[in-house]
Amino acid sequence: MVQRSLREQRQVGRERGRIEQQRLELDLDQHQQRLELDQQPGLDPEHAEHSEHAEHSDHAEHPDALGQDLVGQDLIGRMSATILDGKALANQLVGQLRERVGELQTKGVEPCLAVVLVGDDPASQVYVRGKEKRAAEAGIATRDHRLPAETSTRDLLELVDRLNRDPAVHGILVQLPLPAGIDEQRILQAVDPRKDVDGFHPDNLGLLMLGRPRFVACTPQGCMRLIAAAGVDLTGKDALIVGRSNIVGKPMGQLLLQANATVTTAHSKTRDLEALVRRAEVVIAAIGRPEFIRGEWIRAGACVIDVGINRLASGKLVGDVEFEPAKARAGSITPVPGGVGPMTIACLLANVVDAASR
Ligand code: NDP
Repeated sequence: MVQRSLREQRQVGRERGRIEQQRLELDLDQHQQRLELDQQPGLDPEHAEHSEHAEHSDHAEHPDALGQDLVGQDLIGRMSATILDGKALANQLVGQLRERVGELQTKGVEPCLAVVLVGDDPASQVYVRGKEKRAAEAGIATRDHRLPAETSTRDLLELVDRLNRDPAVHGILVQLPLPAGIDEQRILQAVDPRKDVDGFHPDNLGLLMLGRPRFVACTPQGCMRLIAAAGVDLTGKDALIVGRSNIVGKPMGQLLLQANATVTTAHSKTRDLEALVRRAEVVIAAIGRPEFIRGEWIRAGACVIDVGINRLASGKLVGDVEFEPAKARAGSITPVPGGVGPMTIACLLANVVDAASR
């Protein structure tokens, strides 16, 4: 018994040494990438000090090596996830778009987004202002169409039709949700699919499903860019999406599938969500319930993308994932705010520039 226990102790010692060495290699690797990223043009200096946020995390690539045995969990407990800084990544993308807009302007094309806001929902007003401000930073012109809450479906259809026929308008954004009296599906289907920069039109959703995407919905597109920035190769990975909405969960599933992940989509009728989360190497949380996914459920080393935006009674914004405990286990994780949100806007602008380039 004593001999066996000594052997076990030596084995644990060797295991610790092996993991410690891997950790050092990862640190060196990340340091090197930090240096490379700091040298990239277009990265907002404001975020340069957080440059590791928007880059590769090898932890997510080696969940088994670093997190599945007791020794690994011990080490993971002392590590913290790479924070995927959506703001910095969005700044980088907007910088690239500004260059593309400059090129289009030399050819006489002025990329233009028409923004339609119906009613006076304060959250929608904030979102629209944010989108217009970012558009201006990218050099994209915007046209504001503000309509009263009493607007009829017919009147809105007429406006959409006018914008569809206007050659100076490249993208049309109808801010959702629309007031209760308006037939949302009819409006979304009326937008010319070639100007549907939100990617909500059935044609664009269908093309995505066929693997021939034209405009990819902005939030899922932003999530994919964040996963890429984390350096996660999705091939063969167990990816879990929690939420099956048409604007987030469903298109997200298609994108992950096309990147060769093995995809599970959970929803309100799913049994044992905890077990699914514990297994997942990539978790996309799009539920709309504050901190619903417990940090302790997160698989060690997983990549966690938190789409949820929830305001607590205290006024604080939180995601669908319990951030702090999740951060202690994940390999990489998006914060709320400052994760998916800024990327959603940047991807909308990328779609506008694509529309103007066609
Ligand atoms: P929806 O309300 O349309 O969908 C929520 C999904 O969560 C549904 O599929 C629902 O299942 C599922 N769900 C609800 N309760 C549970 C549960 N107990 N267990 C598992 N699944 C559950 O929301 P959206 O997709 O539009 O948005 C989700 C969140 O993302 C919201 O917080 C929203 O504010 C945020 N968001 C953020 C964006 C960003 O840019 N960061 C952009 C878009 C959204 P079921 O289908 O069975 O009802």
